[in-house]
Amino acid sequence: MQDDHRREDEWFRENEKQLLEAARVARERRERERVDKEAASESKRLRDLHYMKCPKCGHDLKEEDLGGVKIDRCTHCEGVFFDAGELDQVFAKKAAERRGFFRRLAGI
Ligand SMILES: [Zn+2]
Repeated sequence: MQDDHRREDEWFRENEKQLLEAARVARERRERERVDKEAASESKRLRDLHYMKCPKCGHDLKEEDLGGVKIDRCTHCEGVFFDAGELDQVFAKKAAERRGFFRRLAGI
């Protein structure tokens, strides 16, 4: 009789442990989903606020094609911005083409 009670207690303890573990795993999954959703939402909000806006004065940037290299120029302060890899394209040009690029960039 005593053994039956002990086995029953052990079974309940083990069952409770498994239920608590399943609840913990589910809670952590929901938390990860919440964090991912918030990060995606924040990323979209920042992009909506800043996309093609000058980082110095906040006015619109306009894309210009300068001999195959696309740069972004501010419509207000005339600042010039390169996306990742665009400056590399300028350095990869032959010397004469590079001079031409910088003349177009300077508007001369
Ligand atoms: Zn600007």
